[in-house]
Amino acid sequence: MSENIHQRAEQLFAQSLVEGLSSSDQAWLEAHVRECPECARQTASTQELLRALRNVPVSIPHDLAARTQLRVRLRAEESAQTSTSGALLWIITAASWLLGVLSAPLVWRGFAWLGVEFNLPKPMLELGFVLWWAVPALIAVATVLHQRASSNGVGARRQPGDLSS
Ligand SMILES: [Zn+2]
Repeated sequence: MSENIHQRAEQLFAQSLVEGLSSSDQAWLEAHVRECPECARQTASTQELLRALRNVPVSIPHDLAARTQLRVRLRAEESAQTSTSGALLWIITAASWLLGVLSAPLVWRGFAWLGVEFNLPKPMLELGFVLWWAVPALIAVATVLHQRASSNGVGARRQPGDLSS
């Protein structure tokens, strides 16, 4: 078998993970994998890795984002509501929440695919995924803290790094 056939199999397999295949491509791929031990091994190990990645509890970032956003809201209520930039804060909070919820499955799929494609270690992917979720919320928290600091004049009671309470 020529090298091109295996490349086509690899390409179709990657495509099947991301966007799906036409039925003729699917049939071709299955037929090739049946008769090519090398490609069979490769697709099996990729599927194994993807399964492992899908088993990562996505509830961790969900929970993280929810708790962070709750804090953002609490702090927004704590901080003087006379601030005219309060509306901006709400927009940031809502946007970060929506972005997180709407994009999570897509983003996670993208990260899983990246992991397979570039052979990245799983902890790195998890960290990347969590950061993707946390960053907009953290920006919102930072905005609140900044507002508090500037409206109180004496600075925020809590340090920006303190997210544990
Ligand atoms: Zn092959």
